[in-house]
Amino acid sequence: MEIKIELSKNLKAKPQDESKLGFGKLFTDHMFLMNYDEGEGWHNPRIVPYGPIELDPAAMCLHYGQEVFEGMKAYKTPNGDIQLFRPDKNMARLNSSNERLCIPEIDEEFAVKAIKKLVEVDKDWVPSREGTSLYIRPFIFAVDAMLGVHAAKHLLFVVILSPVGAYYPQGLNPVSIYVEDKYVRAVRGGTGYTKTAGNYASSLKAQQEAEKKNYSQVLWLDGVEHKYIEEVGAMNVFFVIDGEVITPSLDGATLPGITRMSSIEILRSWGIKVTERLLSIEEVAKASDEGRLDEMFGTGTAAVISPVGELRWNDKVMKINNGEIGELSQRLYDTLTGIQCGKVEDTFGWTTSINE
Ligand SMILES: *Cc1c(COP(=O)(O)O)cnc(C)c1O
Repeated sequence: MEIKIELSKNLKAKPQDESKLGFGKLFTDHMFLMNYDEGEGWHNPRIVPYGPIELDPAAMCLHYGQEVFEGMKAYKTPNGDIQLFRPDKNMARLNSSNERLCIPEIDEEFAVKAIKKLVEVDKDWVPSREGTSLYIRPFIFAVDAMLGVHAAKHLLFVVILSPVGAYYPQGLNPVSIYVEDKYVRAVRGGTGYTKTAGNYASSLKAQQEAEKKNYSQVLWLDGVEHKYIEEVGAMNVFFVIDGEVITPSLDGATLPGITRMSSIEILRSWGIKVTERLLSIEEVAKASDEGRLDEMFGTGTAAVISPVGELRWNDKVMKINNGEIGELSQRLYDTLTGIQCGKVEDTFGWTTSINE
């Protein structure tokens, strides 16, 4: 399939101060669109000026949430090249989400090609200040104008781009996390392992209540027993206990993060023991009481590595590493972000230039 390109005639002013970009507030000049219609399959891939999309008020995505998305980034390297980090994994996960949400499969290789083309068209929007990047948001939603509850026959695949700032402009500051034991994010057999809109809608309430108590995010427990740890906000979570790295195994309710996968591979390449298993909040509290909880951190594309300095579970407050970033968290952050922006040699072969 050939991608048609219609260039914008009204280019927007680019942000002057890359220290004030924030996250997901500005969008570039172009977007990628592709339609799916039953009988025709995915067709009409095109890059067009960024702008509003017209939808029928009965469009199914607005009523029943048949939608999936991805989150990835493009980075400017010191020699001015622009590269992506494991985009094949994002597109494979998008298809895994598609399968669960009854959305037709996309051609993963073609989707990576389309994303590279879009980034190339808007390459002047990729910021270069340390810690900044171009956030890429691919998403697919149902557009059938129909109120019956069934899988859509007409969908739209869209990719938009947003220049984003350093997640921690003041350096890596450990966050405070509230253990949520009333609301749940996902259950086994549900859609927890997919990036679908509904998961995030249902997480807002807990997030709001945690913020009221001055915690930046919640730690989600499993939906059945409220006992086993799943994730932190929209990040996977790791604990360092007695020098061993432990992260919850992927049980179907947890999102299989690409930063999680990459962190495990890097840690193992350093000869550090990483275990994926069921981990209860009691076990973490006990390790904390006994002084064996060395570090805790979240992993995700937005923050990459987010150290946790305080964990609150009901009335119990656990301080981790005196509220400071741990040695391993810092080393992992430096290595991962170094590979992503081309400052550390990519011995894993994870990065790919948009011109490749
Ligand atoms: C996207 C996401 C993650 C992190 O995945 P990455 O591929 O590392 O960005 C973790 N948990 C949830 C709920 C997410 O949506």
